[in-house]
Order: sequence, then structure tokens, then C-alpha cells
Amino acid sequence: LSEKLSGIFDTLTRRGALTEDDVNAALREVRRALLEADVALEVVRSFTDRVRSRAVGAEVVRSVTPGQMVVKIVHDELVAMLGADSATIDLDAVPPVPILMVGLQGSGKTTTTGKIAKRLTERGKRKVLLASLDTRRPAAMEQLAVLGKQVGVDTLPIVAGQSAVQIARRALEAAKLGGYDVVMLDTAGRVTLDEALMAEVAEVKAVTQPHEVLLVADALTGQDAVNTARAFEDRVGLTGIVLTRMDGDGRGGAALSMRAVTGKPIKLVGTGEKLDALEEFHPSRVANRILGMGDIVSLVERAAETIDAEKAERMAQKMRKGAFDLEDMAEQLAQMERVGGMKGVLGMLPGIGKIKGQLDNANLDDRLFKRQRAIIMSMTPKERRNPDLLKASRKKRVAAGSGTKVEDVNRLLKMHRQMADMMKAMGKGGRGGLGAALGN
Ligand code: GDP
Ligand code: MG
Repeated sequence: LSEKLSGIFDTLTRRGALTEDDVNAALREVRRALLEADVALEVVRSFTDRVRSRAVGAEVVRSVTPGQMVVKIVHDELVAMLGADSATIDLDAVPPVPILMVGLQGSGKTTTTGKIAKRLTERGKRKVLLASLDTRRPAAMEQLAVLGKQVGVDTLPIVAGQSAVQIARRALEAAKLGGYDVVMLDTAGRVTLDEALMAEVAEVKAVTQPHEVLLVADALTGQDAVNTARAFEDRVGLTGIVLTRMDGDGRGGAALSMRAVTGKPIKLVGTGEKLDALEEFHPSRVANRILGMGDIVSLVERAAETIDAEKAERMAQKMRKGAFDLEDMAEQLAQMERVGGMKGVLGMLPGIGKIKGQLDNANLDDRLFKRQRAIIMSMTPKERRNPDLLKASRKKRVAAGSGTKVEDVNRLLKMHRQMADMMKAMGKGGRGGLGAALGN
């Protein structure tokens, strides 16, 4: 794959915005990577469509190819989508809080029930009761009882001949009487989706009103992931997903498929058969694994950092030379807006009390920044480099062009002079200081 990719990405780097052709070429490779990671086809389609509309027109970071830039955008979008709502198991309800575990047979429901019980007991200091509603496989209830013993958690005593709903009722009752904080209900699963199973799970849900309904799903599931997730979401209703077998060598595309189809967060990840092999879900790790282009992503990140550092250094040099023009000022204003306004920036600088007072008097707020930038943008490049050119008639033109008054233009020019003087003075004092603070 990476050889194929380099074919696309070895095209010359250039500056400017991503064109539709750039984006389409790169997305063909991204699409292939997602399919290889077993992301469901319909999800690949809707996802790449969304990325396409976001990527076209985006600025390409210098020293990076358009294709690499698209990969970075895809990655960021993947992370945002996978981890949109950070998620943990929600126990914020009147105890005993019921948690319902659903999923296909063999997906890891019973094991995950044991893992979560262990975690809630040890880290959460919760008193947990486990109950198996699996009436179909004789060994299932015994399996849960054994797991319970291993992790030191109580299980509901087995009573032969009860239906899943009857067991669920009994579990809730026992949890109330026994003063349990949490009651976990492990349900039966089928190898494939079937109506009887769905009806049973839906009925259990209606009876127990669980606070969490967790779909336990095998990360190695391929194209079926969407069908499974959609069926459980439609028929039962989910609050979250636990992905198991993330220790396997699959790329975990099911994570994206299930997240996209249900809109429900991935809350935990199973990473082995042992009972402590349960981890938080890390969207960027999983995004890297799904996309399989982590090298490109970090390359673009490094390039962007380098450019920021170069910019800051260029600015510092200009300051030392006293060559701070209005172009630079516009850039500084934009950066100041990003770091929380003029006062925030000035607050970080040493020895700036006097001018800070003046700026306060000038009633500087962030709306003013925008206006000031508009004024600078209404000047010609020549005027920005050499503000002395701005005599009365030019000032009038600039004021009209930016929807301000000549006084506003004057105020801006005065502020520029003050900043330039201040920077020159500080620049003489050496590097760092103002340059570092304003440049970053
Ligand atoms: P259930 O039918 O959904 O209850 O599935 P089980 O909990 O009985 O698990 C089926 C098999 O998958 C067992 O052998 C588990 O040890 C194994 N298993 C469960 N979770 C994981 C996991 O995260 N990683 C690995 N490698 N195996 C798992
Ligand atoms: Mg089971």
C-alpha cells in the first residue's frame, strides 16, 4: 500500500489551496485504505464525501504535498468522528444501576461483563451484582459464575427454568435488597441476528430500564458490523459500544462503521482474554490504525510546527531591526485574537506596564482587532510596508474601504508606531521575550 501511496504523494510540493483534483486523487487511496481496514462500504462512502467537501480549498502546509495534506485532514476528521463525545460508563442514577450487555454470540459479552465488573469494583469501589440471562446455552450461566468468582464479584444464584425476563426481574430485586450499586445483565447472543433474540433483548430492556445498554462487538467484524450495529440500535437502542479483540491484527474498521451507523460512542476496548485486558478508547490511536498512514500524519504535523517556528523567528528578526510594518501588525493582530486578545498577550510580556495602560485607555477589545485588521487590509501592499505614505487623502480612502473613520485609521497608525518602538527597544535587549511571546 505504501508504495502505491508514494506514487500519488511524490508529486511536487507546492503552496496554495487544495484543488478538487488533488483531493480526489488522494481520497482514492484513502478509500482503499479504509476498505482494507474493513470499514463498511457505505460508511467509507459517506465519510469520504464529507472529507471531500471539507478538504477542497484547504490551505496546503509548505513542504507537504497536496496528497499528504488530504491524509492529515482525513485523519483529523476520523479522530473527531470516533471521539466526538468522550465516553465512560455512566453510573449517574439511583442504585442499583442496571447495565445491559448485548451483542452477537462469541463477541465477548460475558468476558467483557466480567472485565467491567472488575473495573467498577476495583477502581470505582462499586458493589456489583452479575446476572446471566443466557437461558439457551447451559454452560453460559456457569461461565459467568466462574468469572464472578475470579474477579471477586457476586453473581445471582442460578434458578433453573426461568425466562430471561424473569431472571432480569429477580436480578433487579436482589440488587435492591442486597444494597448493590450496579447490576450487570449479560444476555444471550446468536451467531447471526435473529428476530427471537431481538424481541427477547428488547423485552428485557423494557422491563429493567437499563441506564447503559452496551453493544459488545468484535473489532474483527468486517462489512457485517453496520448490520449488527444498526439492528441493535433500531430494535433495542444503545448507549454505547465496547469493541473487543482490539489485540487482534485487524485494523479495527468496525469502530468507524459502528460509530457512524449508531452515532453512539465507543466506551471501552477489549485487548485480550485476561480480565484486566480492558482499556479506554483512544480515538487518535484507532484512527491511525484504521487509516494506516500514521507516518504521513506526523510528517504534516512536524511541517506545520516548523513553519510556525520559522515565522516566529522571522518576526523576531524584524523586530530586532526595527522593521515592523503594518503587514506584520496585521499578522500579530490575527495571532493575538487566537491567543485570547491583546490584554492576554500583553499580560505575558515583562516590562510593559506603561503601554498597557495606554492600550487599556484606547479601549482595546477584540472587536477592535477585527476593525483594525480591516483597516490594514484596505491599504495597498506598498502602504502597509511604508505607513508614512498614508497622508490625508489616502487615509480617507482606507477609512472608506474598511467602513471606518479617519480617526480610526489615525489611531491604528499611532498604535503601530508604539508597537514598533516598543519592539525595537525590546529587540535590542536580545531574542526571546517579546518575539517569542508574540510569535507563538
Ligand atoms: P459471548 O458469547 O459474547 O459471551 O463471548 P465470550 O465472552 O464467551 O467470549 C468468546 C471468546 O472471546 C472467549 O474465548 C474470550 O476469551 C474471547 N475474548 C473476549 N474478549 C476478547 C478480547 O478483547 N480479546 C481476545 N483476544 N479475546 C477475547
Ligand atoms: Mg456469553
